[in-house]
Amino acid sequence: MAYQLVQLEIQATDNIQCPHCQQQVINWAEEQYIQPCEHTLFIAMDIGFEYITDEFEQTMRRTVDDLHANDDQVNIFAELVASQYPEYRIYQSVLGVEGYSRYIGFTA
Ligand SMILES: [Zn+2]
Repeated sequence: MAYQLVQLEIQATDNIQCPHCQQQVINWAEEQYIQPCEHTLFIAMDIGFEYITDEFEQTMRRTVDDLHANDDQVNIFAELVASQYPEYRIYQSVLGVEGYSRYIGFTA
């Protein structure tokens, strides 16, 4: 298992910081609340991707376009953890919608 899962005990409206550079990767004070830093590999939800690096996408078994095209039958989390990326962390937080999560990938 090349990933480490970290479950954040925060609300859906809280900002999320990069553990390396402390940048607010999710920043609700910004109009564009997705603010990936150089350590961010992906920002995803159970319902799709908001951001992904080419480098990380190449380690996944399916492309993001393919996943989005089949989003009714895809388990995004299962796809994220099937990646061949050597070492990464997944920060999981609630999305504010029943049963849904956001997943942010950072370099280890
Ligand atoms: Zn960072």
